[in-house]
Amino acid sequence: MKKTVKSANLHAVNDLRYEDTPFPVCEGDEVLVKIMSCGICGSDLSRVYGKGTYHFPTVIGHEFSGIVEFDPTGELVGKKVAIFPLLPCFKCQSCADENYATCENYDYYGSRRDGGMSEYLAVKKWNLLVMPDSLSFDEGAMCEPVSVARHAISKLGIKEGENLFISGAGPIGIIAGQWAKMFGAKQVYYIDIDQRKLDFARSLGFEEYRSGIKIDCALEGAGHSDALASCLEALKPYGRIVLMGNPSGDMVLSQKTYWHILRKELSVCGTWNSSYSGRAGDWSESLCAMADGKIDVKPLITHKYPLSKCNEAFEMMKEKKEFYNKVMLNMHTEEN
Ligand SMILES: [Zn+2]
Ligand SMILES: [Zn+2]
Repeated sequence: MKKTVKSANLHAVNDLRYEDTPFPVCEGDEVLVKIMSCGICGSDLSRVYGKGTYHFPTVIGHEFSGIVEFDPTGELVGKKVAIFPLLPCFKCQSCADENYATCENYDYYGSRRDGGMSEYLAVKKWNLLVMPDSLSFDEGAMCEPVSVARHAISKLGIKEGENLFISGAGPIGIIAGQWAKMFGAKQVYYIDIDQRKLDFARSLGFEEYRSGIKIDCALEGAGHSDALASCLEALKPYGRIVLMGNPSGDMVLSQKTYWHILRKELSVCGTWNSSYSGRAGDWSESLCAMADGKIDVKPLITHKYPLSKCNEAFEMMKEKKEFYNKVMLNMHTEEN
């Protein structure tokens, strides 16, 4: 067996290295996953160029899928799997209620411990979701953003024929639009500071928001004060808004914006991560919806790089050299 694997290992802010790391050893209830695909999330970009990880070095990546190569019990060998990246403490009240996203003391593949931008990873069995065979590994890696989008949209309780306003036309914003239509939304309107993203949304059957259109419900996906203000302004009286975008600084509301919440009696709700359990939850629903073709993430994957070119991929995204939606790393292609 090989002694090392290739990984994208973050040593410090601005220091992501494609290098050899020790071959993972399975302990306890872990199985060995041969990782095939790992998406680059906006949060990975800010880890590499801004806020780093919780300790260094850390193999980053939390949107990944692969194939089980070793399982001490033999049960899962050869299965295609998607991986829920959060490792709950199983001790707090949230964990007792199976609300793992709000666990008080969780661990996380790709930020608090080594993650998916590697050829192999030892993963706890609890975190594995067996994928339908018809799904590609790239689609399996998209299960994380698809689940995050589903979690947010389901909080809006969209009714048949309602329209939706989304600020931020990145991968999760677009997938959220797909879920909204699946849940009965008539039209989904987007705003974004990047016109290319709006053009992309239009090419997928969505619309660019024009001022004056009154909206039933909104999803704030940009994590920016101006975007939030636009959402609140667009909403009809008694409208609902879910806040999803993770801000990089303070969110500030002017008095005029704040009045929208009061005078229109808006309902404001937050969303975080996604729900996961063997029986139900966003993750199993996401895999089903992709397998049924109701959620189609294939057009969103605009770029694919071999793991060996991870730095090129990150730079392209940081410098916005090309238009991109989801950038995927593939671990076991010939180019590696
Ligand atoms: Zn992510
Ligand atoms: Zn917990």
